[in-house]
Amino acid sequence: MRLGPGKHLKGLTLMGGIVKPEEFDYFHELILNTELAHFGTRGFVDGLLNGGVIALPPILNYGTPELQTQYVSDILAGKKYIALAITEAFAGSDVAGVQTTAAREGNEWVITGTKKFVQFSIDFGDHGMLTSHRWITNGTFADYFTTLCQTDSGPTVILVPRSSTVSTKPVKTSYSATAGTAYVTFSATRVPVSHTLGEVGQGLRVILSNFNHERWMVVGTSLGAQRLVVEECLKWTNQRMAFGKPLSAQPVIRARLALMIERVEACQSWVENVTHQMNHMTYAEQSDKLAGPIALLKQFVSRSGRETAEDAAQIFGGRGITVGGMGKVIENFHRTSPFDAILAGAEDVLGDLGVRQAIRKMPKNARL
Ligand SMILES: Cc1cc2nc3c(=O)[nH]c(=O)nc-3n(C[C@H](O)[C@H](O)[C@H](O)COP(=O)(O)OP(=O)(O)OC[C@H]3O[C@@H](n4cnc5c(N)ncnc54)[C@H](O)[C@@H]3O)c2cc1C
Repeated sequence: MRLGPGKHLKGLTLMGGIVKPEEFDYFHELILNTELAHFGTRGFVDGLLNGGVIALPPILNYGTPELQTQYVSDILAGKKYIALAITEAFAGSDVAGVQTTAAREGNEWVITGTKKFVQFSIDFGDHGMLTSHRWITNGTFADYFTTLCQTDSGPTVILVPRSSTVSTKPVKTSYSATAGTAYVTFSATRVPVSHTLGEVGQGLRVILSNFNHERWMVVGTSLGAQRLVVEECLKWTNQRMAFGKPLSAQPVIRARLALMIERVEACQSWVENVTHQMNHMTYAEQSDKLAGPIALLKQFVSRSGRETAEDAAQIFGGRGITVGGMGKVIENFHRTSPFDAILAGAEDVLGDLGVRQAIRKMPKNARL
């Protein structure tokens, strides 16, 4: 369900049957995303197969029928895991700059490092070069990697099964090891050319259209967490006594709460507006029309989240920065809300993207 509506849901019983697969839409998925955030455990939620949420759609949208038959059902059944491998040491926001190469040899791609990638590459002679991708969510336990590579014809996305030439090791982040964040290494990894997702040389189209759903998902989980944080703050300010009265009796506290509530409700309205549009557009239309709005929405929501994290930590005092105990949700959100501002597109980059898209779509003769 976290992949959105589509034929992958056909014949399944969803949520005990309360919604039929053909009726399932992005609002149902939005509810799932916001509710997941109620665990108050950001890293663990990413561990709940976020890798699949972002790595499987390219197979569904761009994989050949044979490839889909071979891989999709095991992934959907939870028998196999998949991760999205785009980011490299020298290519984060600038996805077009990836340096992993896929060289064609007969009917195979050979995925390996590039000589330009001197600092982080180790030459293994006949066995090719090592190159590194970093911060790959669910990578520690993934069986497959949806991987962006450079080819002679330009960036290309290739589905790479784990093999003896693929290795992963955990990356320590400030959230949770349960997210399975990994450093992934390909060493002359051989993959059939039939594992290409989309056209050779058109990898950026595949990756950029895939970003929309991912960013919208991050908006949902961030927003769910922000609403939970506001609830926790309302309860806390009601019960915490200071100077002989509850915290909520202090105008300065109420002023902070007002801003927190306003931000959550503004974000909620905006994400519902975008969700409604997603429900009424094809995947191609979403890719064309919603990349800018979703980028701006995500920037706004993740910024709101960090302001709310600061406000909540102030309201909770020492408990807001203590792991466990009454402030545990606040502490977790305060520590992990920056993740929402970075992964799936850093805030500043998304703001810039949104404005560039808006300008691109303006009539060229628009004047005052
Ligand atoms: C926990 C975690 C999990 C992740 N999971 C995955 C995953 O599963 N798969 C994957 O492929 N990647 C993953 N990533 C990588 C993530 O997508 C990148 O970190 C992100 O795209 C930003 O890239 P960067 O960190 O290299 O920052 P950079 O691109 O180096 O940017 C650094 C800073 O510079 C700013 N900046 C960069 N370019 C511009 C510009 N043009 N204009 C203005 N400001 C700019 C950015 O806003 C940012 O603040 C993950 C990251 C983390 C932390």
